[in-house]
Amino acid sequence: MKPDMLMSTGVPSKQQIDGVTPPESRRKQGPFVVIECFQEIPCDPCYHSCRFGAIKPLESLNDIPQVDWDRCTGCGICVAACPGLAIFVVDEAFSDTECLIAIPYEFVPLPEKGDPVYLLDREGRRVGQGVAHRVVPGRKPQGTPVVWVRAPNELSMEARHLLPAEKASKKAGQASDKAADQASDKASAGESLTGKGGMNCVSR
Ligand code: SF4
Ligand code: SF4
Repeated sequence: MKPDMLMSTGVPSKQQIDGVTPPESRRKQGPFVVIECFQEIPCDPCYHSCRFGAIKPLESLNDIPQVDWDRCTGCGICVAACPGLAIFVVDEAFSDTECLIAIPYEFVPLPEKGDPVYLLDREGRRVGQGVAHRVVPGRKPQGTPVVWVRAPNELSMEARHLLPAEKASKKAGQASDKAADQASDKASAGESLTGKGGMNCVSR
């Protein structure tokens, strides 16, 4: 995807993501922040929320935030503070097989610790499954809830949203109930499901 696609789709390019990812040596050391904020907008709660000076001082309110990864502890405070839901924390050193990803999540109900979740990429595609490892409710007045998910290691820089698995199966159930209802309505009205013949029509 070309960099300018961000303007039309809201999805950043690989180059843009690479530009906000710390070097390999830092990634191995523990949790790090990933600020996927690419537009110059008048906004700075991320800068003010960080107690560790890991988000460099902005010269102008419109500046894009820059990170000092040596100072970042991966605490996740800035994830909850960002009104654009543009900040994530990734811990690739969590275990040999799993990483931790802090994802801002503004839906209710919140998943609970231990709940299975589907992991979605930046385009909303389901890319795998994970588990809600820690759920931090939002603090008023403007804190966003943050769900820390355990995810397969290879999804550390891919998974950026989640869908509670129970909610997804309920949705799927509702969709199939709806489809079944529609099918039943059509069948009772004698309408074809195939468009070619009646449901009970047998070729002879
Ligand atoms: S994760 Fe914590 S230490 Fe790192 S930039 Fe955000 S607030 Fe600062
Ligand atoms: S708070 Fe979020 S949207 Fe605002 S500048 Fe920081 S990263 Fe960008």
